[in-house]
Amino acid sequence: MKYIFVTGGVMSGVGKGAITSSIGALLKAKGFTVTAVKIDPYINVDAGTMNPTEHGEVFVTVDGDETDQDIGNYERFLNTNITSVNYMTTGRVYLSVIERERAMGYKGKCVEVVPDVPNEVVRRIETAGKKAKADIVLIEIGGTVGEYQNILFLEAVRMMKLRAPRDVATVLVSYLPIPSKIGEMKTKPTQYAVRTLNSAGIQPDLIACRAEIVVDSVRRQKIGANCGVEAADVISAPDVETIYEIPLILESQKCAERLCKKLGLRHRVNHVEAWRRLVRTIKNPKREIKIAVVGKYFAHGDFVLADSYISVIEALKHAAWAQGARAKLTWLSSEEYEKNPRALRELSTFDGVVVPGGFGGRGFEGNIAAIKYVREHKIPYFGLCFGLQMAVIEFARHVCGIKKAHTLEVDPQTPDPIIHFMPGQQEKIAHKKYGATMRLGAYRCKIARGTIARKAYGQELISERHRHRYEVNDAYRDVLQKNGLVLSGVNPELNLVEIIELPRAKHPFFIGVQFHPEFQSRPMQPHPLFKEFVKACLKNSALVGSVL
Ligand code: GLN
Repeated sequence: MKYIFVTGGVMSGVGKGAITSSIGALLKAKGFTVTAVKIDPYINVDAGTMNPTEHGEVFVTVDGDETDQDIGNYERFLNTNITSVNYMTTGRVYLSVIERERAMGYKGKCVEVVPDVPNEVVRRIETAGKKAKADIVLIEIGGTVGEYQNILFLEAVRMMKLRAPRDVATVLVSYLPIPSKIGEMKTKPTQYAVRTLNSAGIQPDLIACRAEIVVDSVRRQKIGANCGVEAADVISAPDVETIYEIPLILESQKCAERLCKKLGLRHRVNHVEAWRRLVRTIKNPKREIKIAVVGKYFAHGDFVLADSYISVIEALKHAAWAQGARAKLTWLSSEEYEKNPRALRELSTFDGVVVPGGFGGRGFEGNIAAIKYVREHKIPYFGLCFGLQMAVIEFARHVCGIKKAHTLEVDPQTPDPIIHFMPGQQEKIAHKKYGATMRLGAYRCKIARGTIARKAYGQELISERHRHRYEVNDAYRDVLQKNGLVLSGVNPELNLVEIIELPRAKHPFFIGVQFHPEFQSRPMQPHPLFKEFVKACLKNSALVGSVL
């Protein structure tokens, strides 16, 4: 098995995940079985307990791990499911070392930070590779070289390289700034980053240079000469219109091929045509749909942090591309509608509205008002998880006349808990057992015949990923149905409501799902429900030329 480590230099957030995924996609196109591992340096055992504005989206795997959004990138670029073994944090690594020590797993030895912690990291990487039967394992180390936090992970790289020098390669993803007053692309921060990596005992095999524009050959030569790599191993990764273009940009510089050579790998095929086709489609849309995402996890100081909903954004885009369209997304804060209900009118300027997942009471009533508006004004609506729960509450309040309908999550005293705890969840909350205790991972759902959902999926039994503590209360099923809400999908094992919808005769598209379909959408295989939603939005949409 071969291992390619990807580390970051200069600064974080420049797209290490996209580069790791793109290298993976290229290696896959060359016929190799590839898997990707994400290492996050924080102490949290998983991403599940972190605020989305702090961390970005929590990506849920089929086997129910609450991971980093980069795992979502890997799934989308490699077109495969990644499972829990492919994700580790400092907290998780230490936890298993300590648990093993308590179980006498180290047979009475003194357990030390080095080498026992990096050894555990290596063990986990190898397990992930074996589980995926991979030829190549890509391992992305979160954060930036030089941070105190990731030193033990770099030590794991050094140890692996020492054990099997021909099987390990390292990529440094760097950033080349162009300070506006200087007006020149600067290479020095990259040189420092390489030195820092060198001081951890690692020499990069390839340097991927992120920058606003293409890195010219003068700078490639300079970086090569100063950092001890061939100029051809200095790869330029400029800003792009769509991240799905990155594999093609790397391919044009023979990035994956150079890595293969270093690892002694030969390949016979190179199926990059599908990526070219995808990028062509993305760049030539015929129509544009305007979609509003109403939520609360994107305001971050003066910046909009759409990362909290990255899979939702991707899923909408995938579905639009598949239908020759471009999705233009606008972020609307539900809290705003609480302060200023007249602002709701802006919703009628959109072709469709999405209310994604969420937690807690902030912005709740604003969301209810938004859902009421789109239901009454027949604007296509797609509610994901909390978006289903709030749609059911809105329907109960305004159609069934249950004025105090609520969720126990927001109003624990409500006389009408339309949304209530799932079995066992109340006890977990009472005992402060928050970590990894929601209903997580893939569950089956049976879809009723004659429904929009059934038509979209084209099958009766589906499987989707979940992350929630609350569910639709069975006691209210009858009244909801009598008033016209269709409970179109139900979990066959636990009889939980998983999909609700309004019939076509009443509304062009009004669907809520208790799961997160966005996690299963892939650029070349959009999700059926997102496709159906986009189809409904397209009816209101404009031709591209006319809106620009
Ligand atoms: N807060 C809701 C619950 O826990 C919905 C969760 C979500 O949207 N992911 O049930």
